[in-house]
Amino acid sequence: MMLGSVVVGVGIAGSVRMRDLLAPLPSSAAEKFSIRGFVSRRTLEDQQGVKQISMMEALSRDDIHVAFICTENTNHEEHIRQFLEAGKHVCVEYPMTLSYTSAVDLWNLAQQKGLVLHEEHIELFTPDFKQLKKDIAGKTLEEGTLHFTGGPLKANFGFPSFSGIARLTWLVDLFGELTVTAASLVEEKENKYMKLTAHFLTGQQKPLTWIEERAPGLGRAKHIDLRFQDASITELPAGQREPVGLFMQDLVLFGRKLQGEVSAAELQDERSRILHCLQLADRIQQLSEHTQA
Ligand code: NAD
Repeated sequence: MMLGSVVVGVGIAGSVRMRDLLAPLPSSAAEKFSIRGFVSRRTLEDQQGVKQISMMEALSRDDIHVAFICTENTNHEEHIRQFLEAGKHVCVEYPMTLSYTSAVDLWNLAQQKGLVLHEEHIELFTPDFKQLKKDIAGKTLEEGTLHFTGGPLKANFGFPSFSGIARLTWLVDLFGELTVTAASLVEEKENKYMKLTAHFLTGQQKPLTWIEERAPGLGRAKHIDLRFQDASITELPAGQREPVGLFMQDLVLFGRKLQGEVSAAELQDERSRILHCLQLADRIQQLSEHTQA
């Protein structure tokens, strides 16, 4: 059976989703999707040959089984809930929500309804990350820093520990569950400048620091400084470029989940990681708001 799909939110991510749904990777689980329309708050022409439909129609049509939520972060939660309530599977761009408790609620709702709730994490598919993970395998961390820089975020992307969840996900995927020891936020609204600093301890009590810094003119980059017992890595390795795009890799993973091809153990590990990261993001927000006051 084909999985009728709708894309909600036609920004950068939503447009890429439509492109990928229209030309899925051959002989992959992504071929199971069939795009039936897109939903937008704006009234738009056909996009890539796909027609706009109303939210009501997307929620009620029997031939729509799957929703891709590609709107800005502040309204992911409401959209996920609406589609799950309507009995549709959901793929949501990260971060799925802007609080840990709402994410737990939504996972429970998905489980009750027997639906797949999938959070996209393309940052785990980048060649750099895959190479870094290989390079540090077997090494014992002593201390590390991940410093992200980029331009100012648009409105409605949430507190930086949530909008930057991809960096947190890297750290957790590389070093396991973390404990937040301190966090602070420096913000100069008039200059569109912000810098979030979070300190963690790993399970082996080793210190890790995450810095998320955004300002006009700051280039998008990740700086790493990882010290191991007998080596250090101070530059991201350049991984081997792959022919399959990042969002397509995510689409294939989501498709495999819908076909029951991903093991229960793998699903459980992923869910634990996602919820752990959102819990850390929540804690970082609490501590930062406290220190700011
Ligand atoms: P975006 O700013 O391009 O789009 C965000 C929302 O704004 C969409 O709902 C879109 O419909 C709406 N929008 C865009 N232009 C508009 C306009 N002129 N008027 C009114 N509304 C308009 O942001 P994005 O990069 O697509 O991000 C969407 C989601 O995807 C976010 O949750 C983000 O965290 C996630 N995400 C994006 C990327 C990426 O590479 N862009 C990667 C990973 C996750």
